Amino acid sequence: MAHCIYYPELLHAHRTPNGHPEFWTRLKAIQEGLDWDDCAFIEKRTAPVAELDLARTLHTDAYLEMLALPFDDEEPIRSLDGMDTWLDHDSLKAALAGLGASLDAIKDMAAGDLKHAFVATRPPGHHALSDAAMGFCLLGSAALAAVHARDTYGYRVAVLDFDLHHGNGTEALLLDQHDVFFASTQEKNQWPMTSATGTTGKFGHLHNIDLNRRTGTREMEAAWIDLLDRMRAFEPDLVIVSAGFDAHQHDPLSGLRWQTHSYPWLAARIGEAANVSARGGVLSILEGGYEQSVLRKCVPLYMKAMAATLTA
Ligand SMILES: [Zn+2]
Repeated sequence: MAHCIYYPELLHAHRTPNGHPEFWTRLKAIQEGLDWDDCAFIEKRTAPVAELDLARTLHTDAYLEMLALPFDDEEPIRSLDGMDTWLDHDSLKAALAGLGASLDAIKDMAAGDLKHAFVATRPPGHHALSDAAMGFCLLGSAALAAVHARDTYGYRVAVLDFDLHHGNGTEALLLDQHDVFFASTQEKNQWPMTSATGTTGKFGHLHNIDLNRRTGTREMEAAWIDLLDRMRAFEPDLVIVSAGFDAHQHDPLSGLRWQTHSYPWLAARIGEAANVSARGGVLSILEGGYEQSVLRKCVPLYMKAMAATLTA
């Protein structure tokens, strides 16, 4: 099949404390949404767990060794940054499943067997730094997948990030990487306070547009029309999307007012832009999104719009 979704082997792997917004039931909501909707054309796959070495291209050995430290029964779960980001005995494996699914999808895309994959795994990754966990994130899967696709298949790779929050980790990991492109919108003055509208990076390849609090679809659409024009000029072979659904007006963390129809709109615009040059297709990786009713509705709409737009 040309479209697929990856789930982890165990939906509940990677424990976070009760009440934490980044909770395993997010994946259950996505699975329910796809099972209830008319999404039978989407193949379901189990995310293969990547070898730890594949994370070494952009993360430090010391950081990865810390993530791999064994756990004992006395301390089954621990915070890495005081509060936000948690680790248990399964967390590294869960993060490596997100990376493994991404690389598996790229392999099939390069072979011409897959057009769009959605990696529904957790923890998310776009805040992870080379040497530290941050903002619920452990491994920078989007950046790792981009560099892997470039180095393995000779692809030019665009990474798009429409999560509510700035993809500061992805941006930092790609800061001096050639033949990659990064474009992101985020709520202005929202955590982690790392973005500013403008273009940066060693090759002028990192593009940000901050969106004012309480703005909705009009501002979002104008920003993404602009950013996707810039992506077309870059002529990517592969498009990777950091797909966060927390800019929705009903998300508990959101100060933006994106609507349910914003997500199929984004998928269609991304698909149209990808059709121009991205023979490799589109790889979407779940980032944020903490309101389960939003995930249940918006992920199927996003996947169906992508399928309707991407040409073979
Ligand atoms: Zn977010």
